[in-house]
Amino acid sequence: MSTLLTGIGLLATQDEELNEIADGALVIDGDRIAWVGPAVRAPDADERVDLGRRAVLPGFVDSHAHLVFAGDRSAEFAARMAGVPYAAGGIWTTVAATRAASDTALRANLSRLAQELRRAGVTTFECKSGYGLDVATEARSLRLAAEVTAETTYLGAHVVPPGVDREEYVALVCGAMADACAPHARWVDVFCDHGAFDADEARAVLTAGLARGLVARIHANQLGVGLGVALAVELGAASADHCTHLTDADIDALASSDTVATLAPLIEFSTRSPYPPARRLLDAGATVALATDCNPGSGFSTSMSLAIALAVRELAMTPAEAVRAATAGGARALRRNDIGVIAPGRRADLVVLDAPSYVFLAYRPGVPLIHQVWQSGRRVWSAIG
Ligand SMILES: [Zn+2]
Repeated sequence: MSTLLTGIGLLATQDEELNEIADGALVIDGDRIAWVGPAVRAPDADERVDLGRRAVLPGFVDSHAHLVFAGDRSAEFAARMAGVPYAAGGIWTTVAATRAASDTALRANLSRLAQELRRAGVTTFECKSGYGLDVATEARSLRLAAEVTAETTYLGAHVVPPGVDREEYVALVCGAMADACAPHARWVDVFCDHGAFDADEARAVLTAGLARGLVARIHANQLGVGLGVALAVELGAASADHCTHLTDADIDALASSDTVATLAPLIEFSTRSPYPPARRLLDAGATVALATDCNPGSGFSTSMSLAIALAVRELAMTPAEAVRAATAGGARALRRNDIGVIAPGRRADLVVLDAPSYVFLAYRPGVPLIHQVWQSGRRVWSAIG
């Protein structure tokens, strides 16, 4: 069964050869894109949908999210807005609530957030553990995450639990916890930053994950300059996430590697922190991704549209660069070549905007412009029901 989508205002494919098509059309066959081009040359299909001059872009790819948890930290947020600075240790509140929660409660929260991401136009998302910090709860978190996404990440090294010996905890994360979690995970991650894990500890954690067949990604250089980005590049990590505080050497290292610089401006927005140097990264030739980093502590938003608006307004990215980072960039950060781009053979994951062009995502910040979401060739959400 094939479907022709026509009446597209501006079709932003993110394909390197044919990036933007005015008056575009595309054909979906099954779960894949079969044809892309100008509407006047569109082939016939079994079914025809007129999008009424609305813009179409690839479904967003959110390569960084923490969605398995219980409770919320709105009180901590209010305190932060009243002047209390953000510190890594606040995670403990969520860990206690997550350990105490039933599978049913965790699954319900996760499924609500997955649905929220879908409505926000996100058609692929990554999901980390990291609010269990013991063997059973970390493994349980990943088992539940695997029910909603293939992109699961073992983040036992989120923070050292209070009252636990630091060296013993790192040994656990690299040993028994990694053994229990690896079967449910594709990725291994570590929070390498001030107040979290240092570069030696991070190297041990990532190496233990690599030895179990996982691929590395890292939380790096969020709270200050450090060795996280250099370590990511050295170990061939798919992505170094946050990159808020970078030296020139960090930027050169990222630009000359396959490691994607994943930026999460919703976090700086929600913590009133300085934004990452996106312009320097892009000008140096680094691949940049945009992620929500949705989590209950430092930034609880699933709005990729707002992340794009911030990337344009606060990080000096152009609207085209920001949309590319939220689609093709996210796919690169997850090492996926079947998503993030609208081209024949790719998965038919699409966002239809209630606007003529993707520029409106930044031009009209905070306005709910997501009109339809298509995933694997099916319309999975529509603003008109
Ligand atoms: Zn994170």
